[in-house]
Amino acid sequence: MFGISYQDLVKRIKLESNLSEEEINSKVKQKLAKLSDLLSKEGAAHIVAHELGINLLKPSGKLTVEKLIPGMNSVNILCKIVKIYGIREFKKESREGKVANLLVGDETGVTKVVIWDTNLIKLIEENKIKEDSVIKVKNAYVKDNNNYKELHLGSRSEIEINSVNETVEVKPMDSVRDYLKIQIKDLEDTSSNVGIFGTITQVFEPRFYEACPECNKKVKLHDGEFHCDVHGKVQEKLVPILNFIFDDSTDSIRATAFRENAEKILGLNSTAIYELRQQPEKIEELKGKVLGKQLTIIGRVNKNEMFGRKEFSVQRMEDKENVVEEVQIS
Ligand SMILES: [Zn+2]
Repeated sequence: MFGISYQDLVKRIKLESNLSEEEINSKVKQKLAKLSDLLSKEGAAHIVAHELGINLLKPSGKLTVEKLIPGMNSVNILCKIVKIYGIREFKKESREGKVANLLVGDETGVTKVVIWDTNLIKLIEENKIKEDSVIKVKNAYVKDNNNYKELHLGSRSEIEINSVNETVEVKPMDSVRDYLKIQIKDLEDTSSNVGIFGTITQVFEPRFYEACPECNKKVKLHDGEFHCDVHGKVQEKLVPILNFIFDDSTDSIRATAFRENAEKILGLNSTAIYELRQQPEKIEELKGKVLGKQLTIIGRVNKNEMFGRKEFSVQRMEDKENVVEEVQIS
């Protein structure tokens, strides 16, 4: 059985039948009741789909992003390139080559695309396809990666650019990941707009810098007054910086969070963090609360030349792993 989440199964059955989500859930529940508890709800949903005459891997009608399911082969789909995350070289025992990661979308959603074919990657390198290009992908296959579906393009796959005269509207992405999910072991010196899900395993005492209240940039002290390069003489404000060690079980990295990100991690506003300076026991207590916190940090790698190591600069965060909400059967 392919790793299709229950929510995706229900979505697909809904698309291919006239049933509502409640009706599908209740059919699944009936199956589960009838066929003993040994059956998973995903298994029951597959049976329901089969009984309705739905072939999950061969959707009817035009193929759209939301219909993609891990296990699909020979996928032909029209989509727009939303983001090109970059091209990476890899070396494994058996082979070496390049891989490109992008995000594409259509009116139903977005999906990550992984290109393994050097000829197709050339299209990006030669700027023949770029962000906002509308492309027709042919002969791709869908894989599951940690519960996210990915469209993979190998040596048999094609990208058509010349004959595409269609426009594609991409569904707004507010609820969708727009960064590349990555593991710490795979971070490179130049990684940016990447997200890591992991745990805070060590946290250092918060520090502060004087910043411009208008633009948050660091200000410089001249003759007892603080100056911003852009805003001139300003009343400085203190902005917290929090360094911590982040671990995702593949490796760990030193990370830095500024301002609202530091506030969010510590659960305190800047003033309250500043007031802690004189109370070491309170700081220890706070550290204890932060240790073990799980979250997704999104940002970029900074190479620390002095220590010859990679560090992570946090641009924003998500409280937990960005997982699609599970559909409840109750
Ligand atoms: Zn300023």
